[in-house]
Amino acid sequence: MDDVAVTGRFAPSPTGVLHLGNLRTALVSWCVSHGVGGRWLVRMEDLDPVTASREHAARQLDHLARLGLVSDEPVVRQSDRFDLHRDAIARLRRDGLVYPCYCTRREIRDAAAAPHGDGLPDGAYPGTCRELTRAERIERERAGRVPALRLRTEGERHRFDDLVLGTVEGVVDDLVLQRSDGVPAYNLAVVVDDHLQGVDQVVRGDDLASSTPRHLHLQRLLGMPHPTYAHVPLVLGPDGNRLAKRHGAVTLDDLSARGWTDAEVVRLLGRSLGVDDAPGSAEALAARFSLARLPRTAWRLDPGRDLTR
Ligand code: GLU
Repeated sequence: MDDVAVTGRFAPSPTGVLHLGNLRTALVSWCVSHGVGGRWLVRMEDLDPVTASREHAARQLDHLARLGLVSDEPVVRQSDRFDLHRDAIARLRRDGLVYPCYCTRREIRDAAAAPHGDGLPDGAYPGTCRELTRAERIERERAGRVPALRLRTEGERHRFDDLVLGTVEGVVDDLVLQRSDGVPAYNLAVVVDDHLQGVDQVVRGDDLASSTPRHLHLQRLLGMPHPTYAHVPLVLGPDGNRLAKRHGAVTLDDLSARGWTDAEVVRLLGRSLGVDDAPGSAEALAARFSLARLPRTAWRLDPGRDLTR
C-alpha cells in the first residue's frame, strides 16, 4: 500500500443544511486527498452553541455520505475540544501575545470606520484595548464588561501559494482568540484542530482565503507546520450572490424531491469541477479529478433553469 500522502478535511459549521456549494467543496477536498491515497476527515465546527446543533450535524453527515464522502476517522466536534483550544491560548499568553478586549461590536465598527491611516485592512481591529492600563481594565470590569481575548500583532504580512488562487498575501490584525462568552474563536480553533488532527492539506471555500494569513501567523507563533491550501471558488446564484435557499432548490433533499438521484448530483458537481463526462461516484471522480482543471471563477448556478428536469 502507498504511504498515506496527505490528510485533507472538510470542516462544516452545523448551522443549517449543506447546499450544493458546500457539497461541491467537500467533494473537491475528498478527491484531492483520496485521489492520492490520502486520508479525509470531517470536523464539525460547532463552536457557537447558539447556531450549531447536533441535528444539523447529523443531517450534514448523512448528505455527505449519500455522495460517498465518509470521514476516514471518527468525526471530531470542536465543542468537545475547548480545553485544547485554551491550551494554545495559554501558550500565546505566556509569550505576552494575548490581551483582554472590552470593546463592543459597535465600538469596533465605529472605530474601524474612522480613518486610521496605518495600513490596516478594512474592518481590522483598531487596537483600542491594546495598551489599557491596569486601572482602565479594572474600571471596565467594574462596569460589568467581560473581555474577549485578542492576539497582539504588529501588522505582520503573510504570503502563501494557494493551489487554486496562486499567490495570496495579507496583513494580520489583532484577531479574537476567545470570545467574551468564553467560546474559542474560529481562527484559533481551526489552526489548533487542523494541526492536532494531522491535516496537511486544507481545501475550503475561497471566502476564507483572506483569513488564511491569520492562520499562517498563528501556526508560526505556535510552532506548527503550515498545511497547503486550496481555496475553491464559491457557487453563486443567478443574482451573483452566494448560493442560498432563496435561489431555489439547492440542497440534496431539494434535488431528490425533483427526481435527481445522488449519483446524478455527483455527476453535476463533477462537471462543474472541470471533469468531462463526470462519473456518478466520488470514487471514480477522484481518479479523474485534477485541481489544475478546476475553474478559477465562481460557478454561476440558476436553480430554476439549471436544476429542473
Ligand atoms: N467552518 C467553516 C465554514 O463552514 C469552514 C472552516 C474551514 O474550512 O477552515 O465556513
